[in-house]
Amino acid sequence: MNLLDGKFIAQEMYTKLQSDAAELKNKGIQPKLVIILVGDHPASLSYIKSKEKASQTVGVECEIMKFGADEMDTAKLIEVIRGLNEDDSVHGILVQLPLPKHIYEPDIIKAVAPQKDVDGFTAYNLGKMFLSTRFEDLAPCTPLGIIKMLEHAKIDVEGKEAVIVGRSNIVGKPVAIMLLNRGATVTACHSKTVDLSAHTKRADILVVAVGKAGLITADMVKEGAVVVDVGINRTEDGKLVGDCDFVTVSKKASFITPVPGGCGPMTVACLMNNVIKAVHKQNPSLS
Ligand code: NAD
Repeated sequence: MNLLDGKFIAQEMYTKLQSDAAELKNKGIQPKLVIILVGDHPASLSYIKSKEKASQTVGVECEIMKFGADEMDTAKLIEVIRGLNEDDSVHGILVQLPLPKHIYEPDIIKAVAPQKDVDGFTAYNLGKMFLSTRFEDLAPCTPLGIIKMLEHAKIDVEGKEAVIVGRSNIVGKPVAIMLLNRGATVTACHSKTVDLSAHTKRADILVVAVGKAGLITADMVKEGAVVVDVGINRTEDGKLVGDCDFVTVSKKASFITPVPGGCGPMTVACLMNNVIKAVHKQNPSLS
């Protein structure tokens, strides 16, 4: 078994991104990311910390705009985003999800200008990603991180059976499309799938993004499969684990991502990658 070491690959990406950011600064441009947080979801606070830290590492200015859940509604938040869309000093806008229930997420995502949509969640950026790899641009960070880990390990996906478990708009669906566009034969499983293991057992590449510890056991995995575990779950004793039973699944897998240290760090590194890309998109004369 080989580890798909997201932490290590992310560090390699940071080295390159640091020099990209330094080059932009030499040209008088300070890359800037604004993160909007509404409420105080505990996981969001910890995700924001790691995004702030990565920004510091790369040399991206990171501003956190914090709002109490009761001082914000959908219309007010759209106004805040519109202001940032028009602010030339801001290159990336990230609205930390989930938002409090009284705020309508689809309208908020829609409000972000596509060229500043560093999460890659707007219909415009998702649509480009859908068309082909040639048009993939500001792509969603977790799926992009998965593709980068596979590429780093020189895992050719063409002609492979890829099974994705989970169909969220931020992980499952976009990673299915990205693998499809790279020539894999893709099966998308979800909560309504009948006989999950009949599908997972066929997978040469198995991507699991559900959020249920222990969902995937070794008997559900083909010998030699590449296993990407996106899930993040906290056990009763406070340990972070994925959706796969790592100890037993790793014995069958040819490659596997650890949790923590796999998809998480790659997601943040891909966010930084998107911020630098966004700067170039907004300053076409640089490229
Ligand atoms: P989500 O809750 O939006 O979607 C979960 C999906 O799992 C749904 O499509 C649902 O149909 C499917 N599902 C639920 N029960 C199932 C079952 N028994 N069998 C098969 N499918 C089932 O979740 P999400 O936002 O895609 O996140 C999934 C997990 O990945 C979570 O643990 C989340 O914390 C984690 N995550 C990690 C990163 C990272 O950077 N590492 C990024 C995003 C999400």
